Amino acid sequence: MNILIFGPNGSGKGTQGALVKEKYKLDHIESGAIFRKHIGGGTELGKKAKEYIDRGELVPDDVTIAMVRDRLQQPDTKNGALLDGFPRTPAQAEALGEMLSQLGAEVNGVPLISVPDEELVNRLSGRWTCRARGHVFHEKFNPPQKPGVCDFDQSELYQRDDDRAETVRTRISVYWNQTAPLIDYYRKCGKLVEIDGNQPIECVTRDLLAALQSE
Ligand code: ADP
Ligand code: ADP
Repeated sequence: MNILIFGPNGSGKGTQGALVKEKYKLDHIESGAIFRKHIGGGTELGKKAKEYIDRGELVPDDVTIAMVRDRLQQPDTKNGALLDGFPRTPAQAEALGEMLSQLGAEVNGVPLISVPDEELVNRLSGRWTCRARGHVFHEKFNPPQKPGVCDFDQSELYQRDDDRAETVRTRISVYWNQTAPLIDYYRKCGKLVEIDGNQPIECVTRDLLAALQSE
């Protein structure tokens, strides 16, 4: 089963993805997290991606598609993938369809987590991310037990540079201009399931699992 978890920045894709991947034993492939790993490691790809990420823009399609192709060829599980943050443009969606069909697979379901824009700004500006493995918390909505420390692996929590208010607004407008057209693309394929993301984390998880069960 290959699931594409879809929604604007801050809608809860990473939070929900971490819970769903456990249940279905899916390989969680997060394009943003792979970029951040390259940036941390100082690779050429990381240097190229950083200038776009810092501005809140999308990394060019050729770079992103090559990176995900490489990652998809090394799946951690045979149960399938949970794609989070990819695709973000029509060209990426087309490339994903081709990559999966070469592996004898396809996109099976696209849950869209919808959240109003003002709420996204509140979520992203209070997000704290774990340095070691990218677990996410929120200072008000999902606080860690101990401020600044990850509940799961005790690593340091930090605020991403691109979660500053002005960059957040750019990212949300990039979502509406460049990524949201994919909603119609997947709706036309009959794969889209809409989930109300503007409710507590456990209610979103309940609705998401119910939607996936009917896949
Ligand atoms: P968020 O969790 O806030 O949605 P991500 O961690 O998924 O953000 O992505 C962070 C940044 O990495 C994006 O703003 C963009 O610059 C870059 N990025 C991630 N995925 C893609 C993609 N599929 N195409 C282009 N750029 C991407
Ligand atoms: P995305 O991966 O879509 O960018 P995240 O999962 O990183 O989104 O969530 C963004 C922020 O919002 C995090 O700080 C997270 O703790 C918080 N969050 C996630 N889901 C909810 C929710 N249902 N209600 C309130 N806050 C949430």
